[in-house]
Amino acid sequence: MQTVQKNSVVTISYKIQEIDGELLEESQEGFPYLHGGYENIFPKAEALIEGKTVGTKIEVDLAPADAYGERDLNLVRVESLSELSIPGLKLGDMLEEDDEETGETIIWRVIAMKEDQVMLDHNHPLAGLGIRFSGEILGIRSATAAEIEHGHVHDEHDSHGN
Ligand SMILES: [Zn+2]
Repeated sequence: MQTVQKNSVVTISYKIQEIDGELLEESQEGFPYLHGGYENIFPKAEALIEGKTVGTKIEVDLAPADAYGERDLNLVRVESLSELSIPGLKLGDMLEEDDEETGETIIWRVIAMKEDQVMLDHNHPLAGLGIRFSGEILGIRSATAAEIEHGHVHDEHDSHGN
């Protein structure tokens, strides 16, 4: 029976909940990821999946540092609402900013507004949270050479799905 090894593509259903139970995210049909230290899944969950077969269920509690990271106050900044001048801006909105050095898009979330001040947060929304990750291995296949080279899974046409 095929087991999960480095460079397996593993399809896993998953549930992410807060430790006290609230469901944060769930995928019953599962998602495929490239196994073997490519940072496509929480490392502690990946360690549990290593060597397992289809049908194996896993469950692991993750401290914030092992999940979405600790909240970093350096990633929070305060701006003047009038200088931002974005009509209708409200709590929870996501602002996109282009990083001039890397060309990547940075997301800032509006987490507080008071008078002319807006507090923007670049932390992952789930940063600082301990979570429980549980799931079931639904499929295992060998990765293609291109997938291994890129460090992520491709769709059936060997192209990028996202
Ligand atoms: Zn690729």
